Amino acid sequence: MSFRNVNIIFSVLTLLFIPLILFMGWSLWLILLPLPFYIFFLAFGAARIHSSFFIKAHCRGGLAEKKIAITFDDGPHAEFSARILDLLKENNIPATFFMIGKNITGNEFILKRAAAEGHILANHSYSHSFFIDLKSKTAWMDELKQTSALISSITGKQVRWFRPPYGVTTPHLAAAAKELDYDIIGWDVRSLDTTADDAGKILERVTSQVKPGSIILFHDTSAKSLEVLKQTLNFTAKNGFKIVSAEEILQMPAYRKAN
Ligand SMILES: [Zn+2]
Repeated sequence: MSFRNVNIIFSVLTLLFIPLILFMGWSLWLILLPLPFYIFFLAFGAARIHSSFFIKAHCRGGLAEKKIAITFDDGPHAEFSARILDLLKENNIPATFFMIGKNITGNEFILKRAAAEGHILANHSYSHSFFIDLKSKTAWMDELKQTSALISSITGKQVRWFRPPYGVTTPHLAAAAKELDYDIIGWDVRSLDTTADDAGKILERVTSQVKPGSIILFHDTSAKSLEVLKQTLNFTAKNGFKIVSAEEILQMPAYRKAN
């Protein structure tokens, strides 16, 4: 069910009411009847990145092998991104970091290190502001451009992956991403490592949902996430899951070709 199909269905539905109102003497208010359902569909589509409602989102791979990818949102963070990079290096594991542009200044060393150690750097907006989903297409384009320009100036990489803040998509976000040729990257395992209190419960969420081709969403912003990552690495090693890059899981390039 895409945004386009929902628009078609509700337009037809609304048109069907017109003869009833004009010729059958039904109340004019009838025309508003589908409105709550329409709003529900839009809200549902916007909030669920997996529905690819406004734009196609890549949320998992089609692999049959026990391979998964791990991703981190909301960094770079001077302390926790660095400690996560240490842990990944010890275990020789690749990851993807969806970075917030406004967090980059002062943390350039994290980007340099992550790129040098083979991790993927990607765009998670510039401001990540609470009201970001009200932005116009032009404002969304600025969000994308500012963060990608920073990543490029520090690492030379031309980012093409974008993960929408809060996993929420809107028609303006979709239009901006299409115009600038970004791929939308989601996840299929949300650890809720920023909202749940108990590391054990977070781990349980992860281990109960993970399957071949999964993309796990963590945040490189707290000691709790670091602890959950440690336990996740133990779980994957014990259960025969191999952690590979998100590029391998999705079979898609994370960067644009250099001109
Ligand atoms: Zn975020």
